[in-house]
Amino acid sequence: MPYLTVEEIESGLSDLEARYPSVCRHIALPHRTYEGRTVTALRIGRHDDDGNRAGVLFLANVHANEWGGSDTALSFASDLLQAWESGTGLSYGGTAFSADDVASIIDLCDLFVVGCVNPDGRAYSQEAPANKDWRKNRRPLNDTDPRIGADINRNFDFLFDIERAFDPSVVDAPTMGSLAPLSDHYQGIGPNSEAESRNIVALLDEHPNIAWMLDIHCTGGQVMRSWGDAPNQSSRPEMTFYNPDFDGVRGTPDVTRYGEYIDPHDESRMSEAVTAIVGAIHGVRDQRYTGVQLFNRPTAGAGLFNPMSGDTIDYAYSRHLVNPDASCVYGLAVEFSLGDDPQPPDDEMQNIIADVSAGMVALCLHARRPVIHTGFEKPPILTPDFRILTGIIDGGPGWVWVNGRPVFVKPPDPRMYELLRRVGEFQVAPELYGPDAVGSQREALQQVVGLAQGLLEEL
Ligand SMILES: [Zn+2]
Repeated sequence: MPYLTVEEIESGLSDLEARYPSVCRHIALPHRTYEGRTVTALRIGRHDDDGNRAGVLFLANVHANEWGGSDTALSFASDLLQAWESGTGLSYGGTAFSADDVASIIDLCDLFVVGCVNPDGRAYSQEAPANKDWRKNRRPLNDTDPRIGADINRNFDFLFDIERAFDPSVVDAPTMGSLAPLSDHYQGIGPNSEAESRNIVALLDEHPNIAWMLDIHCTGGQVMRSWGDAPNQSSRPEMTFYNPDFDGVRGTPDVTRYGEYIDPHDESRMSEAVTAIVGAIHGVRDQRYTGVQLFNRPTAGAGLFNPMSGDTIDYAYSRHLVNPDASCVYGLAVEFSLGDDPQPPDDEMQNIIADVSAGMVALCLHARRPVIHTGFEKPPILTPDFRILTGIIDGGPGWVWVNGRPVFVKPPDPRMYELLRRVGEFQVAPELYGPDAVGSQREALQQVVGLAQGLLEEL
């Protein structure tokens, strides 16, 4: 089966919506591409409620020449829906998921599959053999400058002002966004300047329940997580991408000079998800993908440390840190194939589709799983046994201790807002916890416990 065309990807997504209308909705994203194409997403799940299920966003074909991502995304969606309808499990080589696993993904997750983020670029790269390495979109620089295309994976609003933000020694690193319009890594005229990028921004804005994102690329056999601009560190919270005090020093491997702050809970959650994806891929046919922080990703033709700007996953994860209205999104990316051909021959691509699909299912299972963190010291006994563990008073996300177990909670679940509001009251007045609390306080506390119970049952 040859690679799908742009039209086949779109009709494939429409067909799935028609076949599984109770759990699929085909959404048109708001920004048309330069050549007038509409980019779409297939939303899968029981989305008749108000969208408080764990959202997982899959992106494919951000880079025009990485054709297999779209074929994988479509195949994954089709397999999952077919297995759900028939009530069977799902197997990819040696990795198997039970019928309950499949059903729970449909019941508890809210999946968004963008089959082809960059359709103009894909269409061009498939048009003639000479175009097959085309990576960018197809928009000319402006009305009078015909130089074409921006690298969508360098166009997002994350450290876009490279010369200001980064150490001069890394500004020309081969993985960094480029200021040169003819470069394959040209970052574009401004942050989120391209329709293809703005469509993803719009999806994240409109669906704050999206908690995970997986961006499918090739090649290299890696599963990656933030940060991409510098080594991670968790001891100096002031060292962040949005702190201008650190302009001009980011991007070198010297973590004492600059390391990008990451919340240790976030880092462990992302690491656990990466491990789950790597394990599922490995089980299929023994392909050993590597889980790695994006900054440490070994890249052909580049060094061991490869700072990035404007990329999808760092943008997704950075949003909540600069915008109090944005929810936290854990951005991950996979570079499929252990080989170096971005367009592997058909038989190998079919194997890769199985590898990556297994990883995608594993991520969904990870996203819908109750998150129980066991790294805390034993909390004091409270009556009832409930307390806040980290600061979520401002709207989370964070950890709460519910009935003997720590649970990670995250807006925008409306019940969660209520819960957070109540928890806030208790945290500022801890004496309200105990058996001495008077009626109205006790009542409020019971309400918190009830909300938490409901949450736990849903999880
Ligand atoms: Zn790519």
